[in-house]
Amino acid sequence: MRAARRARQIGATALQIFSDNPTAWRRRPEPPADAPAFVAYAAANGIDPIAIHASYLINLAGSAEPFASRSRANLIHELQHAQRYGARLVNTHIGSHRGMGHAPGLRRIVANVDAILGDTPPETLLVLENSSGGGDNIGSTLEQLAEILEGVDSEVAPRLAFCLDTAHLWGAGYDISTLEGATAVLDRFDELIGLGRLRLVHLNDSRAERGSRTDRHEHVGAGLIGPGGLGAILRDPRLRARTAVMLETPGVDEGYDAVNIRRALLLFRGAQELPVLPPKAFRLSRRSTRAGPGEAAGGRRRTRRGPVRPAG
Ligand SMILES: [Zn+2]
Repeated sequence: MRAARRARQIGATALQIFSDNPTAWRRRPEPPADAPAFVAYAAANGIDPIAIHASYLINLAGSAEPFASRSRANLIHELQHAQRYGARLVNTHIGSHRGMGHAPGLRRIVANVDAILGDTPPETLLVLENSSGGGDNIGSTLEQLAEILEGVDSEVAPRLAFCLDTAHLWGAGYDISTLEGATAVLDRFDELIGLGRLRLVHLNDSRAERGSRTDRHEHVGAGLIGPGGLGAILRDPRLRARTAVMLETPGVDEGYDAVNIRRALLLFRGAQELPVLPPKAFRLSRRSTRAGPGEAAGGRRRTRRGPVRPAG
């Protein structure tokens, strides 16, 4: 309920939550007691869609046990319970082949996606997020995302969707700092996958160099991507119909969720430049957000280290 109230307070019309601790395997067997109130409040206040961000530990490409089985079971659990949080979308990082090679990693991802979607309610969508490509992570290029889709069983493929995290695109080397660059990425996504499957954008600026394969989120328009490219993505009319935009920017506990949603709205309405943020906005504790479940307005990403490496 705290998450939903905060979303309303800052004018959010979409919400990404964790159903449990994002850095742990354990998933609570049942949603919290206030889940029905949360769902009703979100619906009454036009907060739609709601997405669940799965545990950061998940690795769909790994073979090591018990992590492989846990990853699958964890996502099945999230999709089976998603509707009780009012969520149709379950977002997950794809994971790393951990030196075992791209082809076997890809095969494991496809087998896992088939198994997960085969065992979960037809209303739910599994949303795979692009990576910045560090640590043998699969899914740092649009071609790799398309390969997954091509491998998945056609019976369940309609329930497979994708998330583009702008900071990860940048880390993977895509120059999305300009209108042309950002539009080219969406064009290519459309060609390979179809923008109808782009259900989430994680709108994060980046403080890591382009192509560095690291993932360090920055306030909207205040990082190395900048307002031009992020604004182009927000304003692309092709994303109007189905794509929800979530912020995973720093300083949620310090109130920067409200600052960043304002900045995103300015860009959406056509601003080419954004207000300069005070120096203290860049001195937030690296881990400035609580790791507890049900946080407000956009999930958070640990910014205290580079690529988020799955454990499996
Ligand atoms: Zn993300």
